[in-house]
Amino acid sequence: MVKSEQFTDMKGMMQWMMAAIVGCMMAASCCSSHGQEGGGADQATDDVSQFVTLTDVVPDAILEIRYYGTYNFVGTRIDGYEEPTALLTRQAADSLRAVSDDVMAQGYRLKIYDAYRPQKGVDHFVRWAANIPDTLMKTYFYPDLDKSVLFEQEYIYEKSGHTRGSTVDLTLFDMTTEKELDMGGTFDWFGPESHPDFCGNSETCEYTGDNHKSPAGRSITAEQFRNRMTLRQAMLRHGFKALDSEWWHFTLKDEPFPDTYFTFPVKQLSK
Ligand SMILES: [Zn+2]
Repeated sequence: MVKSEQFTDMKGMMQWMMAAIVGCMMAASCCSSHGQEGGGADQATDDVSQFVTLTDVVPDAILEIRYYGTYNFVGTRIDGYEEPTALLTRQAADSLRAVSDDVMAQGYRLKIYDAYRPQKGVDHFVRWAANIPDTLMKTYFYPDLDKSVLFEQEYIYEKSGHTRGSTVDLTLFDMTTEKELDMGGTFDWFGPESHPDFCGNSETCEYTGDNHKSPAGRSITAEQFRNRMTLRQAMLRHGFKALDSEWWHFTLKDEPFPDTYFTFPVKQLSK
């Protein structure tokens, strides 16, 4: 703790107070993210031996690795993404293969935005979130939100389930229209509009049109809600569990490393 007499001017004290507030928010959101994502990952390792390159197991998947490029909420390549590829634990990849075969029979392919995420990438998000003036991509990903609430409202955590290697962010690609299915909002949209139960009941898959959670009065159509449910049902059928705040985010229910987070970079693995 810094003693107050060390402050030589008001600006210094204000900076310290802001740092303390952000620190508290990060500590608080860190705890709740553990609850949300099924347990904290406490041990760090760079052991890659239990991971596979996703497209080796799921060759039908389409990759659009947003954190390798600049079309993401930060607007730059994210630390730890050395190649535009996706890595997962063998178990998660095998389950995702079953999902892929399931949706292929319905005329869809899986489109992957992110899978394993190195801790370095999570640290980059935290650093970006603390830099309040950097709002380069606000128009696209968080137009309704003031950036200062990202920690408080738990959009950014110090830890992420993705670092455990059995979590994936994805959508469906329609092979007939040759376009992504319309989910009524983009991957990484920060807001209640991304909740799977937005405008409907995600348990019964019933559309209600109830958009009271959207501060900006946004809404999604019955078809967009149905598309989200098509993805969700396919993932749940093959051993994944959903997150209640992001329609695109799923974690293998029986993930092999619930208490471990990994630190190696994202790049193609040798077979
Ligand atoms: Zn995710």
